[in-house]
Amino acid sequence: MKRWSSLLALMIAASASCLAQPDAKGPAGPVALTVELPNPEQQILYVHEVMPVRPGPLTLYYPKYIPGDHAPDGPIDAMMGLEITAGGKRIAWLRDEVDMFTFHLMVPADVNRIDIQFQFPSRDRVTPNLLGLEWNEVALYQAGYPTKLQMYQPTLVIPAGWRYATALTTEERSAGSITFKPVPFNTLVDSPVVAGEYFRELDLTPPGSSVHRYLDMVGDRAAALDISEMQVAGYRHLVEQAQALFHSHHYDDYHFLLTLSDYVSTGGLEHHQSSDDRARSGAKMFADGDDFMLDASLLPHEYTHSWNGKFMRPEGLWQPDFESPERAQMIWVYEGLTVYLGDMLTARSGLWSPDTWRDAVAYRAADMAHQTGREWRPLLDTTVAAQLLYGSSSAWANWRRQTDFYREGQLLWLAVDMKIRTLSEDRRSIDDFARQFFGVDNGSFVTRTYTFNDVVSALNAVQPYDWATFLHTWLDGVGQQVPLLSGIDASGWRLVYSDQPSRYQNAVENVHEEELSRQGVNEMFSLGLFLDRQGKVEDVLWNGPAFKAGLAPGMVLVAIDGRRYSTGVLRDEIVEAQKSRKPLQITATGDGLTRLYTVDYEGGLKYPHLVRVPGTTDYLQQILAPRPSDNGS
Ligand SMILES: [Zn+2]
Repeated sequence: MKRWSSLLALMIAASASCLAQPDAKGPAGPVALTVELPNPEQQILYVHEVMPVRPGPLTLYYPKYIPGDHAPDGPIDAMMGLEITAGGKRIAWLRDEVDMFTFHLMVPADVNRIDIQFQFPSRDRVTPNLLGLEWNEVALYQAGYPTKLQMYQPTLVIPAGWRYATALTTEERSAGSITFKPVPFNTLVDSPVVAGEYFRELDLTPPGSSVHRYLDMVGDRAAALDISEMQVAGYRHLVEQAQALFHSHHYDDYHFLLTLSDYVSTGGLEHHQSSDDRARSGAKMFADGDDFMLDASLLPHEYTHSWNGKFMRPEGLWQPDFESPERAQMIWVYEGLTVYLGDMLTARSGLWSPDTWRDAVAYRAADMAHQTGREWRPLLDTTVAAQLLYGSSSAWANWRRQTDFYREGQLLWLAVDMKIRTLSEDRRSIDDFARQFFGVDNGSFVTRTYTFNDVVSALNAVQPYDWATFLHTWLDGVGQQVPLLSGIDASGWRLVYSDQPSRYQNAVENVHEEELSRQGVNEMFSLGLFLDRQGKVEDVLWNGPAFKAGLAPGMVLVAIDGRRYSTGVLRDEIVEAQKSRKPLQITATGDGLTRLYTVDYEGGLKYPHLVRVPGTTDYLQQILAPRPSDNGS
């Protein structure tokens, strides 16, 4: 222990001075990085880096802040088997006591390259038939230099019969070994690979364009890749409609990397020249109408990020390496505007009907209207604390608030769009903002950063207005100060509740929908309860009817008015209580105690919808209508 502590002090002092004087040229390179997957069933990635170095103290980082995750969530806890050698001789390393993503070592005199080896178990992204590879999980890089100055030459070794896709350029393939052209480390991390036994590539490039867009699919079985002609047409329209919206692109070619598996983690991660899309409904995405409806907005969302998030990025979310903390305060633009534009493109491309768009927005608007935490927590605080909210518990989520900058951000940007349309007397819209804000440096994917004032200036260039006050009201306001439904109200529609759920809400309750972080039975708009399919209470509306009766997350409903609990019985008894005007008698059990809770609620079933306001202009029809195609690229 003693030997280590004096060595540690020396290493930290040396690495601190190294950070203070970054070498503009970057370290010697490139690093030869080889990642092997010898047995997919075992799900272990074997990493070997050959890194040119200089003798003396050296500090290595495992990527910590992962762009797009908006959190220091690099999976360092899973790394195993780390060995560093030079000429076959082991070099001791020491993990930093304060920052556990940091490793200190001393490179012996006369050593100019080291071998780094470790293993990464990729249970979330490897199945017997496919692989999704995020390079940040399988590489260490040097402290003291921006990642754009650190060159890497990656080699991936996969089963010989597998096919693959990535935004990286292949230099050589021999059986299962693929070597890519060298790229800076930040580009490598920005360029995931999908590979698999069952693989299909579709070219979505619009006629006459020299910039290629591909849909690359991998699945656990061949049937998962059975996409219909209509679904393919929707994605072709997506590419055209995005071009018609932004009048620019910020990639050489673009790859939608879509994994259709029931065994990998679901969701999406945006990149400049590709997106890592993992269907929530897994292998069923293209087979089932409801599943496709819920997954249809995933690719448009991640594609929109190529412009909004990757190319144009809030200043605090751009960092020179993956160690420097990200500041997420402007994520209401990065994510909120992406939900607004991405869902708009989903409808313009025909992947959603306007009905589905309205049902989705009605459901989210109702959810946001029941985020009771708005009383104490402004939207801006959910952005500053974003990294605490991703993956936070559903218990008391309405009172604590969640990653509301997505759903409330969509309502905010609808309100911006409607304000531009109203003030300009229908001459301008968010389309003009999209063209001007993102349509610069066509073809370039060198990130440009912006501040709050830049957004205000860009909005003023489209339509003069006191945008700073407008935005601050949304971001800093609490309770009723926030004009949550003003965009919907100005669009010629209104949020109402009926006793019939929309097809969208039905689908959400039956299928896991990660963006909404919820699954189960949503009676938040009536009794104030959110339950899982087994009747376990996930969330209770703060100060709502169930709250006042004493119910809490974690309890399990056993019976309603003497009838054994099921979703159907709960809903029957809500209807019955409305007729009889008698309180519901709910039997629930929790921590060994079973008792009766009396819930005073006579309002009946409540499911959100948007309905037309007679005599007004239908702006949603205009917003969601496809645009004439742009032949620019
Ligand atoms: Zn996003």
